[in-house]
Amino acid sequence: MGAVMTDVPAPLRLFNSLTRQLEDFQPVHAGEARVYSCGPTVYNYQHVGNMRAYVFADTLGRTLSFKGYKLRHIINITDVGHLISDADAGDDKMEKAAASQGKSAWDIAAFYTTEFKRDLGWLGVRDPAKWTVATDYVPRMIEFAKRIADTHCYELDSGLYFDVSTVADYGRLARAVTDEGEARIEEVEGKRHAADFAIWRKTPPGETRQMEWDSPWGRGAPGWHLECSVMGEAELGMPFDIHTGGIDHREIHHPNEIAQNQAYHGCGSLDCAEHSGARMWMHNNFLIDRGGKMSKSSGEFLRLQLLVDRGYHPLAYRMMCLQAHYRSELEFSWEGLNATLTRLKRLVMTATPVRDAAATEVADHRLTDLLAKFDAAMSDDLNTAVALTLVEEVAAMKKVDAGQKRSVLDTMDAVLGLQLLTVSRENLRVRPKAATIAEDDIEATLKRRKDAREAKDFATSDALRDDLVAAGIEVMDGDALGWEWRLDGF
Ligand code: AMP
Ligand code: ZN
Repeated sequence: MGAVMTDVPAPLRLFNSLTRQLEDFQPVHAGEARVYSCGPTVYNYQHVGNMRAYVFADTLGRTLSFKGYKLRHIINITDVGHLISDADAGDDKMEKAAASQGKSAWDIAAFYTTEFKRDLGWLGVRDPAKWTVATDYVPRMIEFAKRIADTHCYELDSGLYFDVSTVADYGRLARAVTDEGEARIEEVEGKRHAADFAIWRKTPPGETRQMEWDSPWGRGAPGWHLECSVMGEAELGMPFDIHTGGIDHREIHHPNEIAQNQAYHGCGSLDCAEHSGARMWMHNNFLIDRGGKMSKSSGEFLRLQLLVDRGYHPLAYRMMCLQAHYRSELEFSWEGLNATLTRLKRLVMTATPVRDAAATEVADHRLTDLLAKFDAAMSDDLNTAVALTLVEEVAAMKKVDAGQKRSVLDTMDAVLGLQLLTVSRENLRVRPKAATIAEDDIEATLKRRKDAREAKDFATSDALRDDLVAAGIEVMDGDALGWEWRLDGF
């Protein structure tokens, strides 16, 4: 493919949650970008809100690749240590799921990890360089904890706790001391400060956990925050470039990671970004569902499989994410998804004529201008909403060299990940699982109808159309999209 870059690339500017400012991306290691994304706790399916976090991280990674950096992206799989409540109390999510489903915690983890990766594949999220699985790193976690235990931690009957007053500027990332934070002190007996958190949780006397290890503080399991600090350090070295996660992690999980990293690396001031472990901390805002289906405790919750069962191609959801800025809330609705799918279909259709063209070097100034604007939009803290309008503009361009157009679309799509030149338009049709659609029959009837029309046998043509309508198929003659048929109502 003819990769094209503009003559003067725009500087990449990203919003750093730690400083609450847009900053120039300056890699720690020249030419490289090292990114760590907090991954799922695999005790259940991920909902579509969770998937927004990975579409965001993937778009960031693709943009870094587009800007010429050699990307090393890590996503972790949390298979131990994440408690039901962020207040360090209650059961481990994994152990609880195992007990309620009558399976081992390891089987639960394996099952939901596979489901999660399938969803990522459906959304066109690229595989990271490495999936780090928390239980593979427990000895390293113990070593990390040993190094900070004497100076920053204290031991209680329930475990080893990090004393947040031992590091400067605890909670700078969160900015506000929340009521929730204040309430946390009640949850664990003996905690010195509301925000202190577990580094190691001891298995209560007389109990056995499915996932537990020996440590200097007794048999037990690592704390969730410790896991991410250790895996980031192990795989990327510290400091690395960018740490990502959903905006909820800005409040507790990431401030705690930062405190641990500060402690581990000699307790420096956060004025020097190096001491937080990552130079930039980036957070995607939430996907909101006013129907209340986003909560995993609500029984049937909104996950990608439900969108697919209702007939939507998963890339329509990726596009929905890209239409909003990652730092804005995004409201989910089926109407919104429908409109987005129509937009995606249009885009795919306008791009289709250059599918078979061989990509060539881009010389046409209209194209290089649009590519420069695209670069500027993505470099402006990942402005995907504007970038989408630019890819649409290129796709709709007439009287332009097909090879050059192909080349620019390839480059843009490598960043947006919508598979514009490979997804088949048939696959973008809404196909609800509940509907039985005999596609071959529909195609055959349409073909007969076309023949009848060409033979000017309008009586037959109309009768065939009536048959299709009776079967719930809307025939779309003359529609600008050129989609020959669709299910009535979609
Ligand atoms: P969890 O499995 O709960 O650790 O969440 C996985 C990722 O999804 C984390 O980065 C969360 O911050 C993120 N996340 C959770 N809920 C939402 C939501 N409604 N919208 C966007 N991101 C979310
Ligand atoms: Zn994490």
